Amino acid sequence: MAEDIFDKIIEGKIPSYKVYEDDDVLAFLDISQATPGHTLLVSKKHIDNIYDYDDESAKKVLTKIPIIARAIRKSNPKIIGLNILNNNGQAAGQSVIHTHWHFIPRYQDDKLDFPPTVDNSDKYDEEKYRKIAESIKKQF
Ligand code: 5GP
Repeated sequence: MAEDIFDKIIEGKIPSYKVYEDDDVLAFLDISQATPGHTLLVSKKHIDNIYDYDDESAKKVLTKIPIIARAIRKSNPKIIGLNILNNNGQAAGQSVIHTHWHFIPRYQDDKLDFPPTVDNSDKYDEEKYRKIAESIKKQF
C-alpha cells in the first residue's frame, strides 16, 4: 500500500509538531490550526477508518482520546471547550485515508463554523507552532 501523508509524519519523513507519542499512536498539531491547539491523533498502524478497527487496535488507539483531551485542556486556560471529530469516508470530509481524530479547542467568541473548513496555516510560523506544541506536550 502506498504511504500516505500520516505514514510519512509517523516515520519522520515529514516534520510535524508532536505533542504525544507511544508505541501505538502519534499526536501532533494539525497544520491548519482551525483554532490554536488543533491536534490530530493518528494510529501508527495503518487503519483506513473507524470500520476497520478490531478490539485490540480500538483499545490501543481509542483509550488515548481522553488522555490527549485532558492535556490540551490543561495547556491553555483560555480553552473553554473541545470538539473531537473523526471523519470517515470522503463524503464525511475525510481527506487523509488513515484513521485520525481531530481535537479542536474552543475559545470564547472563536466563531468557528462546524465542521471546520478553515485553514489558518498562513498565520503560523515555526515559532508559533512550536510554542503551542510545547504547551500541550508538557501536560503529559
Ligand atoms: P481530514 O480532512 O482527513 O479529517 O483531516 C486531515 C487533516 O490533516 C486536515 O485537517 C489537514 O489540515 C491535516 N494535514 C494535511 N496534511 C498535513 C501535514 O502535512 N501536516 C500536518 N500537521 N497536518 C496535515
